[in-house]
Amino acid sequence: MARGRIELVLVPCKRCGFPITTTNRSLYGLDSLKAQIGVICQTCVSLEEQFEIAHNIGKALTNLPS
Ligand SMILES: [Zn+2]
Repeated sequence: MARGRIELVLVPCKRCGFPITTTNRSLYGLDSLKAQIGVICQTCVSLEEQFEIAHNIGKALTNLPS
């Protein structure tokens, strides 16, 4: 089992089905956020969602687990 291994995967956008290259794990430990919002391409993501993602990434980066 490849524990903690991050790989690039191709996932269809939740809204338009356009394939997006993403990681199979969240780089910032935001798996719950990813599960909540899902995979959305740049075209479909709303400003509100962009803000939410940026905000949560910022929060995760300042609270990195030791
Ligand atoms: Zn899309």
